[in-house]
Amino acid sequence: MAEKTVTAKQQEVQRIVDALAKAIAQHRLPPGMRLIEAQIVESLQANRNHVQVALQRLAMQKIVTIEPNRGALVAQPSAQEARDVFAARRAVERAIVEAITPAIMQQHAERIATQMTKERAATSSSDRRAIVRELSEFHCMLGEICGNAVLHDILDNLMVRSSLIVALYQRNDVPSCASDEHQQVLDALAAGQREQAVELMIEHLDELEGQLALHQEQNAEVNLREALAER
Ligand SMILES: [Zn+2]
Repeated sequence: MAEKTVTAKQQEVQRIVDALAKAIAQHRLPPGMRLIEAQIVESLQANRNHVQVALQRLAMQKIVTIEPNRGALVAQPSAQEARDVFAARRAVERAIVEAITPAIMQQHAERIATQMTKERAATSSSDRRAIVRELSEFHCMLGEICGNAVLHDILDNLMVRSSLIVALYQRNDVPSCASDEHQQVLDALAAGQREQAVELMIEHLDELEGQLALHQEQNAEVNLREALAER
């Protein structure tokens, strides 16, 4: 009985975590936005205590920042954190690509084809949210089909943080992932050329990081204060 209660609570907390993480990943909740508990309780029809636990969990995952006496807000990763997230993605996505065999590709052929159709439809539209969602979904899909649940979990966290990074640092005039680069990774995987697939994925991630303006910290105010405090 007691165990059942715990499970129900855990499931409910997970539902809130997933809803918030998804909204953040899709840029519906932008970096720095204040997350007011009462509003989350109302819009997700949730219990206040569960919302608090969910926010704490997202804070541990660096997706949310909790400020004493000021409450929770959507995290604003620094330029250094952005570089670290991309370094981590190179390591994790390399391992994911290495785990995907031609048999796995065949087993998930239908899902992969559907994803690529959605992705091409999004990139040929001007719906920025759909583009962000579908391009990121490609990477999440590889995490899901690779068969390693730990890599999948780590990647899910990195993808939400990447989405925050893109929202903060992406130069406006360039799209993020190019769909044909995704297709090349898939083609190499389907042909069993895993080394080639890894190389293409790393190049792709380098390209993505190169599109970000990471040469300066986002928060100029903090830098100014630090500079003045040095004297
Ligand atoms: Zn991509």
